[in-house]
Amino acid sequence: MIDRLEKSKCCGCGACVSACPTDAVVMKEDREGYLYPRVDAEVCVQCQICEKVCPAVKRRSKRDSLLKAYACYYQEEGIRARSTSGGIFSAIAEYLLEEKKGKVYGVCFNDNFMTEYSSADNKNELGKFRGSKYSQCSGNNVYQDVKKELARSRTVLFSGLPCQIEGLRSYLGRDYESLYLLDMVCFGIGSPGLWRSYRTEFHPHAEEICFKDKSEGWKNWKVFIRENGEDHYYSRYDNLYMKSYLERINLRPSCYECQFKGLQRNSDFTIADCWGMGEKSILNDNKGLSALLLHTDKAADLFEQIKNKLLFEEYDPELLMAGNWAVYRNAEKSIEREKFFEQIYQGDFKENYRRLMGSMKE
Ligand SMILES: Cc1cc2nc3c(=O)[nH]c(=O)nc-3n(C[C@H](O)[C@H](O)[C@H](O)COP(=O)(O)OP(=O)(O)OC[C@H]3O[C@@H](n4cnc5c(N)ncnc54)[C@H](O)[C@@H]3O)c2cc1C
Ligand code: SF4
Ligand code: SF4
Ligand code: SF4
Repeated sequence: MIDRLEKSKCCGCGACVSACPTDAVVMKEDREGYLYPRVDAEVCVQCQICEKVCPAVKRRSKRDSLLKAYACYYQEEGIRARSTSGGIFSAIAEYLLEEKKGKVYGVCFNDNFMTEYSSADNKNELGKFRGSKYSQCSGNNVYQDVKKELARSRTVLFSGLPCQIEGLRSYLGRDYESLYLLDMVCFGIGSPGLWRSYRTEFHPHAEEICFKDKSEGWKNWKVFIRENGEDHYYSRYDNLYMKSYLERINLRPSCYECQFKGLQRNSDFTIADCWGMGEKSILNDNKGLSALLLHTDKAADLFEQIKNKLLFEEYDPELLMAGNWAVYRNAEKSIEREKFFEQIYQGDFKENYRRLMGSMKE
């Protein structure tokens, strides 16, 4: 059964949950706080559908993609300032919402700052998706929702981590002309259980959180937390949660063996920080620059429609992405990882976090 899949293979995409005809599968947190499927044997009818849709069990072949590459940013300065890199997600999403009356799916914080999938029907709702959030959300029923919208012939933009895009494709089992898939270059994803404990223990009164705040520049991004009416900016290695992520401790086991890397993708668009070549580009004003890869004709057509709202430079794809190693390579597992997750919840969580991550100010 699907819950016997090795942990290092399961990316947590949730396709098995969505596809199960008897609702026998639910996602449950393990001791590290990551979500894995659990099957209720009394409800399971042994149909094997969960295994058929699992992108880790049944690898999908990659289609030959068109591949055009741009360094670019959205010329709406307010939106770019609140986006992780050049605001290109918003430029694409706004076009599909306004010109195609589409629906956009992305990841937002809920009231407790836990990440979850949500949808937007107009551009005023897009703000919740902006900003990279380094805690994994469970797909839950989002794939079913997407399928319903597609069945009604609605245009849909689904954005997510590369493994979530593969999970959705696998669940749908066919291509849809009205579906636009947008993935990103992905270093890896943090534990939702660890994030919950960190947030409630260290920042119980947080009012706003931005993992990658660019007010002091794109290159010099900070973790921003507003708490009790006060604004705090933490350098990325002075914030314990971010440090544990960047030091390759707080990554899902599957991220060390990710199967969804490379320049060729099954999505329509791939977005990334334009590190490397982009940093030398004339477009780099340190306010955020995106790398945008177009993989399909429909992505290229959409780019033609929005390009007057962007500043962009076309590059050879390999050249543009050469300085962004996460496109190709997996993060190497930290030798501290096992010890960290063995000890973090034993006793005083805050003290443990400080000790395990070294003597750092919070
Ligand atoms: C976990 C993670 C790791 C990343 N690693 C890299 C990397 O190593 N190198 C690199 O160049 N770029 C990486 N990116 C991509 C980069 O951070 C930006 O998302 C990208 O440059 C788009 O920028 P933007 O200005 O258009 O984005 P924004 O408007 O800030 O992008 C928001 C998009 O990100 C999605 N998103 C936010 N958090 C999550 C989440 N937890 N799960 C799924 N989707 C989410 C939203 O749904 C929305 O589609 C990563 C993103 C994430 C979420
Ligand atoms: S075998 Fe069928 S019924 Fe059992 S968990 Fe998988 S999909 Fe659900
Ligand atoms: S479908 Fe996704 S969540 Fe389910 S077992 Fe496979 S990889 Fe894990
Ligand atoms: S590194 Fe791979 S497995 Fe991990 S979140 Fe990113 S796409 Fe998914």
